[in-house]
Amino acid sequence: MPDSRYNVIIIGGGAVGLGVGLEITRRFPRQRLLVLEKESGVARHQSGHNSGVIHSGVYYKPGSLKARLCVAGAAAMVEFCREHSVPHNVCGKVIVATREDELPRLEELRKRGEANGLEGLRLIGPQELREIEPHAAGLQALVVPSTGVTNYALVCEKYAELIAAGGGSVLTSAAATGIRRSQNEITVETPRGAFATDALINCAGLYSDRISRMAGDEPTAMIVPFRGEYYDLVPERAALVRALIYPVPDPRFPFLGVHFTRRVSGKVDAGPNAILALAREGYRHTDINVRDLASSAAFPGFWRMARQHWRKALGEWHRSLSKAAFVRALQELLPEIGEKDLLPGGSGVRAQALKPDGALVDDFQFVPSGKVLHVLNVPSPAATASLVIGKTIVDLAAANLGLS
Ligand SMILES: Cc1cc2nc3c(=O)[nH]c(=O)nc-3n(C[C@H](O)[C@H](O)[C@H](O)COP(=O)(O)OP(=O)(O)OC[C@H]3O[C@@H](n4cnc5c(N)ncnc54)[C@H](O)[C@@H]3O)c2cc1C
Repeated sequence: MPDSRYNVIIIGGGAVGLGVGLEITRRFPRQRLLVLEKESGVARHQSGHNSGVIHSGVYYKPGSLKARLCVAGAAAMVEFCREHSVPHNVCGKVIVATREDELPRLEELRKRGEANGLEGLRLIGPQELREIEPHAAGLQALVVPSTGVTNYALVCEKYAELIAAGGGSVLTSAAATGIRRSQNEITVETPRGAFATDALINCAGLYSDRISRMAGDEPTAMIVPFRGEYYDLVPERAALVRALIYPVPDPRFPFLGVHFTRRVSGKVDAGPNAILALAREGYRHTDINVRDLASSAAFPGFWRMARQHWRKALGEWHRSLSKAAFVRALQELLPEIGEKDLLPGGSGVRAQALKPDGALVDDFQFVPSGKVLHVLNVPSPAATASLVIGKTIVDLAAANLGLS
């Protein structure tokens, strides 16, 4: 049984919580650290249900946390995978414009990428696109050589192993069910016992706003779950995709649009779309959670978002329910793909913070409150950036939570 007294407790055994934990064991090896995870293993939610892409940083607003932490995080992730023999491949990607009105946005992405310090970006025409991706079609494409792929579930297992080797503990099947704060300490209740700590870091992903409330704070935003569904290419057609083929994203949304990803396993998938899930851990259409629905309905920002984006939401639902519509979106990038080439694949649920005014929070958000630090918005590219997010949060924790 673990001890009951710690210097730091982290709630959440995903890439972010474990990235923070790893940095604490490296920088403050004498601090007694406990990571609490409600599932029976690490990376059972977003960190184990994503596209596995090591994002380069091309999309994000220069100067934002996302831009800075992604660019540095991608380099750190590749280095980590190399050092610890985690499968990875820096295969590069192409972002393909298929309509005239996307050309200025593609040029804008190139400028953003350069402002973010990316090297080797170049715009190419259809001929050169076919040399890189022989089956892709488009008017123009942006080549992003530093993008790669890995398997974040394996990355997280390695983080957990290193935390344990560094003297920390990762306790699974240990959901935080209650938090009590007093002058001198914080107590976290779990089915595996109550644990006291000097400082608490909330990295609970889809539940980070609820943990914030459990700790007595009013979160600045509500988490909205957006499911992303994938199709798998049948193995006979996997050769249609050499690496990663992406569309030009719609700048009004934080999602990148359905794309093709050749995973480290060699398997190719298509997706993910982005539909509002009816439960925070709603991996299927049939997963419905009344409490989650009621809390969304009671949040004014939810209805404001719905009013602004209902047309887009309907389109995404249509594409989710109709394979033909999903395939039509994919055919813009890869005209040869047909319905028979795709089998239903997995899904993941993104934790996206929503503000009371109905705006989706764009940047990463870390909110200190006394001896507690809430990590309230860490959507993509947070898996890529997890090592550097860990460093940033530990800097904040050292300043605000008194870690030394
Ligand atoms: C479909 C999809 C595709 C994506 N693609 C990419 C990509 O290609 N590249 C990229 O960089 N990022 C990608 N992302 C984003 C990335 O996966 C996330 O940003 C990242 O995994 C967030 O990590 P996390 O640790 O915050 O969340 P999570 O991995 O969700 O971890 C949070 C953990 O907290 C635990 N928890 C919750 N409540 C409690 C409680 N009460 N007590 C104890 N534990 C609790 C949960 O069980 C969970 O394990 C994608 C995400 C999705 C969903």
